[in-house]
Amino acid sequence: MSTLAYIGLGANLGDARQTIEAAINTLCESSGILTLRQAPLYSSDPVDAQGPVFINTVVAVDTTLEPLPLLDLLQTIEQEHGRERPYRNAPRTLDLDLLLYGTLTIETPRLSVPHPRMHQRAFVLRPLQDLAPALHLSQGSFSALLADCRDQKLQRLVD
Ligand code: ATP
Ligand code: CA
Ligand code: CA
Repeated sequence: MSTLAYIGLGANLGDARQTIEAAINTLCESSGILTLRQAPLYSSDPVDAQGPVFINTVVAVDTTLEPLPLLDLLQTIEQEHGRERPYRNAPRTLDLDLLLYGTLTIETPRLSVPHPRMHQRAFVLRPLQDLAPALHLSQGSFSALLADCRDQKLQRLVD
């Protein structure tokens, strides 16, 4: 049995693009990750935050990991890239958020799924839509949600 999960990646310190690509390779090779599909890369201006532009993307994974072990894996990969949390929304070398885990809803202190703020963020919605255009989010359609965040500057990077 495996589950289709979506993971959001973001970085705005150091060589953000290289970090994102390295993290995807690590994820791909991790035990419990069976398959991985990657959306295109985007750059975005920080939302509710300061600092350099972000590089963002989303990956879809088929995984045999339960949600908390998957979060552990994501946090281990963040640590390998020197993630620090000096204050909320601080610039970061790497951020890996578990967006969706199958159709599961999880509300625990360590893990909320679906990610509670994903539907307000163009840098999540656009790459998620690229990967899974037919996906149904409980907060609304991609087009309606993206219209609500049209003020957020987002640019697709060339390959
Ligand atoms: P945001 O959650 O608004 O995107 P952030 O990614 O900057 O902010 P972090 O500092 O990376 O926040 O994470 C804070 C805590 O959020 C983590 O320690 C983790 O336990 C918890 N968390 C809850 N739900 C999730 C989730 N779906 N994915 C990743 N972390 C989560
Ligand atoms: Ca985040
Ligand atoms: Ca995070």
